[in-house]
Amino acid sequence: MEEMHIGVMTWVLRDPIESLGLALAVGVRTMQLGCPPDGYDPERKEEFKELLRKSGIKVTTVFCGYAGENYSTLETTKETVGLRNPKFREERVRKTFEVSDFAKEIGVNAIAAHIGFVPEDREDPLYGEIVETMRKIADYCKGNGQFFALETGQETARTLLRFIKDVGRDNVRVNFDPANMLFYGSGDPIEALEVLKDYVIGVHCKDARREGGRLVEVPFGEGEVGAERFLRKLVEIGYKGPLTIERELEDPEEQRREMARIKVSLEKLRDKVLSTR
Ligand code: MG
Repeated sequence: MEEMHIGVMTWVLRDPIESLGLALAVGVRTMQLGCPPDGYDPERKEEFKELLRKSGIKVTTVFCGYAGENYSTLETTKETVGLRNPKFREERVRKTFEVSDFAKEIGVNAIAAHIGFVPEDREDPLYGEIVETMRKIADYCKGNGQFFALETGQETARTLLRFIKDVGRDNVRVNFDPANMLFYGSGDPIEALEVLKDYVIGVHCKDARREGGRLVEVPFGEGEVGAERFLRKLVEIGYKGPLTIERELEDPEEQRREMARIKVSLEKLRDKVLSTR
């Protein structure tokens, strides 16, 4: 496959067949598939597998969505997202195993998730609990021949790097989302990429810009990430994986249109960066 091929990230709350339709409509060859929190209806799943085979589209990662996650404020995010809250943990570990099995069924060698804010303080008892939980998940993925990728942003790159080392499993990697670094105030995305460079197996081409005093998500290339310097940095660290467009819009039509537009400009930019490295 060509270097830095372009893909789309589909919404976790969406039906997989609709997700596939999005990738086809945007005209990309790869996608990261968001797995709905309630899993798949068995019949629908078989239909999806068949359609995926025929489509020629490669799923590069399956993303876990967990029931009950709420990203509306920093507090609700801390409370409800990922593996942080002990109340949800066991059920979500089970769910992650299911996603791993499903990914294996469709021939995908990586799954990913937001695991929730990893505490900066290593002495925080929660830190050790999340390390243990991550080991269980990594070992399960290993049994399925897979990587587990941590979506970035909810902690600084240095905290994430230390966490990966403390987990100590060779299949734990990073899905690098530069806009999330801005959203959560976790530092400059390019510096963060340098810190995490040995672990990056996927990236989200997502952007953010300050508007009226608050950060809003905008199409990749129109925000503060600095699309060209981001791509140049990826080349510098030797990244050759997919460039996965992420655009979090509720309206599927609008999302499709925007992603198609981003794809055109991203292709141009990628070709420019690759030809002038
Ligand atoms: Mg992302």
